[in-house]
Amino acid sequence: MMTKTDYKKSCHRLQAESIIKSFKKRGIEGVYYESSAEAVEAVCRLIPDGSLVGLGGSETVMETGLIDALRRMDIRLLDRYKEGVSKEEVDEMRRQGLSADVYICSSNAVTADGKLVNIDGTGNRVAAMIYGPKKVIVIAGMNKVVPDLDAAIARVKNTAAPANSLRVNVETPCSKTGFCQDPHCHPPHRICCQLVVTEANMAPGRVLVVLVNEDLGY
Ligand code: SF4
Repeated sequence: MMTKTDYKKSCHRLQAESIIKSFKKRGIEGVYYESSAEAVEAVCRLIPDGSLVGLGGSETVMETGLIDALRRMDIRLLDRYKEGVSKEEVDEMRRQGLSADVYICSSNAVTADGKLVNIDGTGNRVAAMIYGPKKVIVIAGMNKVVPDLDAAIARVKNTAAPANSLRVNVETPCSKTGFCQDPHCHPPHRICCQLVVTEANMAPGRVLVVLVNEDLGY
């Protein structure tokens, strides 16, 4: 007998099919996997030996197990998650990531019509998504899918940002209430500084979105 989870997963499959068609019209490639394990295997196969690989800060990428898989590869990984890495080293890796062969990150939200919606604090991730790295691989759980742009921004500000604030221990206004308090939110206690909507991609094959039928990240 089908369970509630089975019905949800079936629904996600249908959504992914439709979103991948929308991506195609926008010049974005899309693939779908049922599990993180399958996605990790596929992503690793795409990265040639010797590649310089940059990472955007991402709970999703951590949760999939991709970081450990990348560490076992014969690549030059800009490993911001390595134990003992300093803030200065992370800053340098962010800069190097802008000219990486492959850049791996997640997206804060994916709309039903195939837009990627992201809000950054420092902006290194959205910068790399826009221009620089030769190839960008975006991994997103189906929990990141939303109906439209308004829902995407609401998701980022009322789901992702409060949880991320608590995770990295930044005293944003939303870390106190769980909801966005904009316009009463300013630096230094603000992590939403650049809002980027990727509506299309001009370089064929540059951006690949890997949708995974799991609940990943925030
Ligand atoms: S704008 Fe400020 S309060 Fe709103 S989600 Fe971002 S960090 Fe939180």
